[in-house]
Amino acid sequence: MTGIAAEPDPGSIARALVAWYQGARRDLPWRRTRDPYAIWVSEIMLQQTRVATVIPYWTRWMARFPTLAALAAAPLDDVLAAWAGLGYYSRARNLHAGAAEVIGRFGGALPATAARLREVRGIGAYTAGAIASIAYGERAPLVDGNVARVLARVFAVETDVKSAAGTRALWTLAGAVMAALPAELAAGDLNQAVMELGATVCTPAAPTCLVCPVHDACRARAAGRQDELPVVPPRKREDALPVVARTALWIVDDRGRVALARRRPEGLFGGLWELPAGADVAAAAAAIGATVTSAGAIAMTHRQVLSHRRLVIDVVPAQIAAGARLAAAAESGYDAVDWHPVHAAPALGLAASTAAILATEKDASWISTPGPSSCSPRATPRSSKGSSSSATTSTTRTSSTPRSARARASTSSSTTRSRSGARSKRS
Ligand code: SF4
Repeated sequence: MTGIAAEPDPGSIARALVAWYQGARRDLPWRRTRDPYAIWVSEIMLQQTRVATVIPYWTRWMARFPTLAALAAAPLDDVLAAWAGLGYYSRARNLHAGAAEVIGRFGGALPATAARLREVRGIGAYTAGAIASIAYGERAPLVDGNVARVLARVFAVETDVKSAAGTRALWTLAGAVMAALPAELAAGDLNQAVMELGATVCTPAAPTCLVCPVHDACRARAAGRQDELPVVPPRKREDALPVVARTALWIVDDRGRVALARRRPEGLFGGLWELPAGADVAAAAAAIGATVTSAGAIAMTHRQVLSHRRLVIDVVPAQIAAGARLAAAAESGYDAVDWHPVHAAPALGLAASTAAILATEKDASWISTPGPSSCSPRATPRSSKGSSSSATTSTTRTSSTPRSARARASTSSSTTRSRSGARSKRS
């Protein structure tokens, strides 16, 4: 930390934040309840996702799974379908598994302390602090992306906030502010106040310091260093991201339904439905009982930039033999493969790449014409429904450039990584 100004007083900051929050808080549906399950759902949905996006999802979710027991009893397919479009589906899978764990290990009630909450699958330090403080009133601190930004600016934290040292410094500061909260004030209000300030006032760009309740104490503001703090590592350039290349199969039956396969629950993107795919096109087809048609011609190529990698998916027509049935072989990585009407597929828990490819269906004659060798690549590149609603996707481009037939081998599929940093995007 710098010596540019007096050390901010945690007690003054805590009081100012809570007082401000009483008047400035947004009326959000999950703020009208103290139900720890409802708060848990909201906190998980809000990770990586904006408030405006979450509100209708949370409302539908609570109507569909009103209690923790209802969620635990629901099939994973239903849970993923309710999550469809929110992205980062591991959150939904963990909620589902966590609910079952609470039923089995904690008698159906979420534990009341942050320490015990962390024993539940999918509940990390941030979520535990949120549930414990908001639902149970425990004086548990928390740090998410918004809190990190506010604390780093107010206290002029000079360490990379994503490093281990930076994380420790932020949790220590959050703990100090919480410890200094006057006894008559609510811990949940303090935590929500810091998050609200980060979402609405102390924004990443152009914070509105003039209306900030901790304006006088803020060291970044005093030094005019709001643009420099928090310190974050430089973003990787898009072209420096590793490429994961796969071939997806486009198989349509005589009723116009498309073959979709469900990933096994334990792996990456577990439980999601997608066009059957693999690194090797012939092997991917054989694993579900299909054969590649039209000499493996690529009908269209989908490109998608994720946080840690770039996906390049060639879509190739395939077919199954007359009288044969789709079946997921053990080596396929799928636990189910079935026919689905294209228009109904978005209601499934659908992988973002497949959602993007299916979203071109109205524009592309190749994709709506059953059978082999009928690909007439007229797809218009456009943003997809799947990509626009998926928090995992920064950009999505789908093109239909025909190329010569080839079976594509993956160059980096084994290094595929999922995004794990839990920075909140609530705003
Ligand atoms: S004074 Fe400005 S930089 Fe400091 S916490 Fe408030 S909004 Fe953020």
